[in-house]
Amino acid sequence: MNVLILGSGQLARMMALAGVPLGIEVSAVDVSNHKVVNPLDKKRLDIHLETAIEAADAISVEFEHIPEALLEQVNRSGKLMPSSESIAAGADRVKEKALLDKLNIANCPYVIVDDIAQLDQAVATLGETLIIKASRDGYDGYGQWRLSSKEQLPEIKQALAELDLKKVPLVVEKMLTFEREVSLVGARGKNGQLALYPLVENLHHQGQLHTCVAPAPAITPALTAQAQNIFTALVNELNYIGVLAVEFFQMGDTLLVNEIAPRVHNSGHWSMQGADTCQFENHLRAICELPLGSTEVIAPSVMLNVIGCDLPSKDMLSVARTHLHGYMKTPRAKRKMGHINITAHNYAELGESMQKLQKWLPNSYFPTLNSEALRLLQIK
Ligand code: ADP
Ligand code: MG
Repeated sequence: MNVLILGSGQLARMMALAGVPLGIEVSAVDVSNHKVVNPLDKKRLDIHLETAIEAADAISVEFEHIPEALLEQVNRSGKLMPSSESIAAGADRVKEKALLDKLNIANCPYVIVDDIAQLDQAVATLGETLIIKASRDGYDGYGQWRLSSKEQLPEIKQALAELDLKKVPLVVEKMLTFEREVSLVGARGKNGQLALYPLVENLHHQGQLHTCVAPAPAITPALTAQAQNIFTALVNELNYIGVLAVEFFQMGDTLLVNEIAPRVHNSGHWSMQGADTCQFENHLRAICELPLGSTEVIAPSVMLNVIGCDLPSKDMLSVARTHLHGYMKTPRAKRKMGHINITAHNYAELGESMQKLQKWLPNSYFPTLNSEALRLLQIK
C-alpha cells in the first residue's frame, strides 16, 4: 500500500518507519515547495505531486497548517483522512472553539477579537491575565502573547498591530491556573473502531512540551471516562479517521479541552516503546482500513524531548530501557531534534533511570527533568 503524508518532518518520518513491517510505503510532501520526498532522509523522489496523489491509497497529514490550495487539491482526490473539516478544526482556533461549544465540551473561557480595540473589552470580560492566540498557524507556543496586567496592554497592542485580524482573528483566553496538563491520543478506524491510549501527563516549558509521563499518575476512572467521552464525541461528530490528540487542563475533577490536534502527536511518542501498538502504526492502520492495534500499556514510560541542542551522547543508552529517536535535523532554538523514551516496571524505577540520565541531559535543555518530572515520579 502507498500512503502520502502532507508535511515531511519527524512525524512523517516516524509513520514511514512504522509502515515498513506492514509493507506500507510512506512518501511525504514538502508543503513549502510541493516536492515529493522520502520522509526518512528528505531526499526528493522522482515523482510529481499529481502522480503521487493518484498513486496513493490513502493521504494524510502530519501537520494541520497545510496551505489551503494544497489541501483543496488533495481533498479532491477523495483519499484524505482525516477529512479537511477535521484538519480545519485543529488548524483554526475559531473553528475549534465553535466545535467544542457545539458539543458542549468544557474549554477555556475566551473571546474572539478581530479588531485590536476589542482587546479592552476582552480584559473587561475575562480579566487581566490573558493568553492571546493567533487563530491560525500557531504551534509550540508560537503565535501567542501573554498579558499579566492591564499596564501591558499598549505594548501588546503594538506587537499585534501588524497582524491582519480580519483575516486571522485572535482567540483571547483567560489564563487559567490548573493542576496539570494531560492529553488523550487515540485512533478511530473507518468502521468506527476506537483504540485509545491512556491519559498521559505533559510537562511544558515556555509553551512547549518537554516531558511526558505515561500513563499519567493518579488518574481516577472518572477522569478517564470524562476524557474518553469527550474524545468519542469529537470523533463521532467529525466522522474522524486516523489518530486524534486532545489536550486538556485538569482543574480539580474537571477536564477542560485546551486544543485538539488532527494527527499523531508528540504526547503519543512514548507508545513506540510503552504500548503494544504505537500511535504511528495505529494511524496507518486506521487510514489503510486495517484492524486497529491494541493500545495496552506494556510499561510505564517517560518521553523526553530533545529541543534546540544536538542529540545527547549515545553512551546514555547504557541506562537500561532507554531508547533514542533522532530526527536528523540541524539544531536551532526551540527545534525538536529527537526524543528519548524510557520504560520501567514502575514510576519509582523510572525516576531512578531519569536520575542516571541527568549526566547526559543538561538542565538548560531539559528544564523539566530535574524538577517537575522527578518530583512527579517520586511522589506517586
Ligand atoms: P500550541 O498550539 O502552541 O501547543 P496551546 O494552546 O496548546 O498552543 O498552548 C501552549 C501551552 O501554553 C499549553 O500547553 C499551556 O501550557 C499554555 N496555555 C495555553 N492556553 C492556556 C490558558 N488558557 N491558561 C494557561 N495556560 C495556557
Ligand atoms: Mg498545545
